[in-house]
Amino acid sequence: MPLAARAEMFRRLREANPHPQTELEYGSTFQLLIAVMLSAQATDRSVNLATRGLFARCPTPQAMLELGEEGVAEAIKTIGLYRTKARNVIATCRILVEQYGGEVPDTREALESLPGVGRKTANVVLNTAFRQPAMAVDTHIFRVANRTGLAPGKDVRAVEEALLKRVPKEYLLDAHHWLILHGRYVCVARTPRCYECGIADLCEYPDKTLAPGSTVSRSATRRHDGSKATQSVAGKEDAPAAFHDQAQACSDATRTATSANRPLRRRAAVRKQG
Ligand code: SF4
Repeated sequence: MPLAARAEMFRRLREANPHPQTELEYGSTFQLLIAVMLSAQATDRSVNLATRGLFARCPTPQAMLELGEEGVAEAIKTIGLYRTKARNVIATCRILVEQYGGEVPDTREALESLPGVGRKTANVVLNTAFRQPAMAVDTHIFRVANRTGLAPGKDVRAVEEALLKRVPKEYLLDAHHWLILHGRYVCVARTPRCYECGIADLCEYPDKTLAPGSTVSRSATRRHDGSKATQSVAGKEDAPAAFHDQAQACSDATRTATSANRPLRRRAAVRKQG
């Protein structure tokens, strides 16, 4: 994806959601760290349900230590791998109390030395809490970066490095959240919602999903139910024009996007033909 398209992509994402935030609930850097640790292979929703009670009871590393491993396990037992996570939470809290005065360190090296904290968790904390231009690549970002052509890479590390190079500087701090939200709500895994995607005209994915009921012909194009479109009623050269129309409509859509984490969507479907 050329630089101009990358810049336009993030301009639209920012316009739709000027202050993107993680969907994990937390009240301090410590709580963010714990929430991200718990979110491995779990949904943000399930983590929030567990941490509301846990953080109210144990807002600090010292309080968490006093609750103990069994107490933490009991509080988070609705989350996958809760026993291992509880063990890591307590071990991490002990280090925070004994070595960092109860504070969360702000360097990658120190964060990654904590039990249960890998590169992705460290990146989220560095970016979200300490506003460093780190890029945590999760499954959503990996998919969006590859599909769109924004920052292709064969593994998460390659995508992380590509994003750090290819996301225009002014968008780097918030790119992580915009891309996650876009992947979570619009560019979803099985059948991306290309027909209401505000960056469809910039995206290089060749297999875009048609609007429900559309008969636009594009080779290797999917309908919204996931089936391949085979009916040919328009020349292939017309399809890009249909997607190009979204650029104009997108600015209308972005102007109406008001809620904090509303993903960038375009309500009008891809132009119907036939
Ligand atoms: S056009 Fe489709 S594949 Fe491209 S970013 Fe939008 S939803 Fe994803």
